[in-house]
Amino acid sequence: MTTETVSCVPALEALERSIEELEGRPMSQFRTVRAPAEALERQARELGADELAQRALLLLAAVLLREGRTGEGGQLAHQVRSWAELHDSPYVRARAHRELSIFYRAVGDFSEGLTHAVQGVAVLPDDVPGNVRARHLLSLSVALEEGGSPMDGERRAREALTLAATAGDTELTLLVLNNLAYSAFELDDEPSARLLVGQMREIQQRTGHRFGANELDTMARVELMGGRYAAVEALLQPVLADQVAANEGDAVAECLLTLALARRQNGRYEKAQEALDSARVLCAERELAAVSARVREEQAALFAATGRFAEAYEEHRVFHAEAAALHSAQRDARARALQAVFEANEARRDSEHFREMAHRDPLTGLHNRRYINERVPDLLLDAAAKCLPFSLAIIDLDHFKRVNDTLSHSTGDTVLQHVAELLTEAACGSAFAARMGGEEFLLVYPGVDAAEATERCERLRLRIRAHGWEPITGNLPVTTSVGVTTTPDGRGTFSALLSEADRNLYTAKRDGRDRVVAGLFT
Ligand code: GH3
Ligand code: MG
Ligand code: MG
Repeated sequence: MTTETVSCVPALEALERSIEELEGRPMSQFRTVRAPAEALERQARELGADELAQRALLLLAAVLLREGRTGEGGQLAHQVRSWAELHDSPYVRARAHRELSIFYRAVGDFSEGLTHAVQGVAVLPDDVPGNVRARHLLSLSVALEEGGSPMDGERRAREALTLAATAGDTELTLLVLNNLAYSAFELDDEPSARLLVGQMREIQQRTGHRFGANELDTMARVELMGGRYAAVEALLQPVLADQVAANEGDAVAECLLTLALARRQNGRYEKAQEALDSARVLCAERELAAVSARVREEQAALFAATGRFAEAYEEHRVFHAEAAALHSAQRDARARALQAVFEANEARRDSEHFREMAHRDPLTGLHNRRYINERVPDLLLDAAAKCLPFSLAIIDLDHFKRVNDTLSHSTGDTVLQHVAELLTEAACGSAFAARMGGEEFLLVYPGVDAAEATERCERLRLRIRAHGWEPITGNLPVTTSVGVTTTPDGRGTFSALLSEADRNLYTAKRDGRDRVVAGLFT
């Protein structure tokens, strides 16, 4: 999966640890991830560590998505997923699916969001740490809720909760509890909500965790359900006093809105107006269009509560206008993000298609010489780094000119296609076949020693000669001569190995054809 040289192994291990650390960093710290992830991606590429480079790219995609740069984040996540599918890397694939789930939810496609969230859990390898699995389950839980399956969502959130708690990941545990409590609040299930808030407090007391605006808002909403206005004030006091860590997004504005609502319900209209004014200022400062519309809605309710009906009506009218504008702006932004991802996917599919074509032989569909020249040197380096054997075999058809001459060129082509199929069948495991040109083929056997390579070539030779050629060539037999060579520890260049295999092939031809000649590379 990763190509590396011996001297680089410690560097790779350090790189992997750094990437793991970033992957495990709490979501609230996503702004601290960009710079190190960019640097690690460069390092990984320089070391030829493809999988680590992709993991670093995915970290960048996650940052972009959380910054609201949805289109860019989505493109990057799609790109990483394609890579992971092509290179059979389940961990990277699962992580990419999770980011894609976040992307699709952000653009309002909840059904795609759910599909990716399910995949993000389904393909996650068994041996990942508990808190990694918990995050994937939490994403699935949120996607299920948004997709209209709150019961399934809750079940997944509970699984995530157990895993996060067992792993001792306090921030994640609180995040899951917070989500569960907010869902209970939305379902008007006060007893459950209170129980969950109790668990949040318990963790706080045990760990000294300081609640963020998000958590405080959930807890305040739960208190509001029971009309405990003093408790709402007490909870949100630190937000008013600016004692809560500078939160991202709209959490503080949400808190102010909750406070205004509580005060209005409690008949403290002037205080409600104060909270609402602060919320409005914050929304303007941070351009929080969604909360801003809801501030207007609450303002209308407050005017109405104090008998100022004309103003209430006017405010309500503006609220509707803002909400409608917001929805159409959101729709536009979503459409743009989706379109960007769609176009990038198309372009990549085209370029992958062309690259693949450039690496294939059109007659047989096998890899071609260009592919071999690019790929084999890397595989040899890999074998050398791991001190593994590496074998090569050249397969040349015997008296092939006769087929062309006595039958036809197109019969010759058919024979080549059948031989290619037999070669593909023979290339199991790490091995693969290529057409080097004319009626000459190559089998590449990474990690395969001399004895096994020779035996496999011998079986292939017998298989080709025993193939049902009659309908194609009549009584003209089709046989092959094979030259094999093996480097026991991956040492040697590709061209030196190839010359050695060619020498053995020549011996096979000279000694009567239809045979395998093998020899260790010296
Ligand atoms: P041997 O290898 O056993 O010494 O004999 P040979 O007859 O196979 O010898 P040689 O390598 O000289 O001939 C290879 C022939 O393969 C020559 C060429 O016409 C034919 N050939 C090369 N490419 C193609 C192809 O794409 N299609 C067909 N039908 N024939 C091809
Ligand atoms: Mg030949
Ligand atoms: Mg030949």
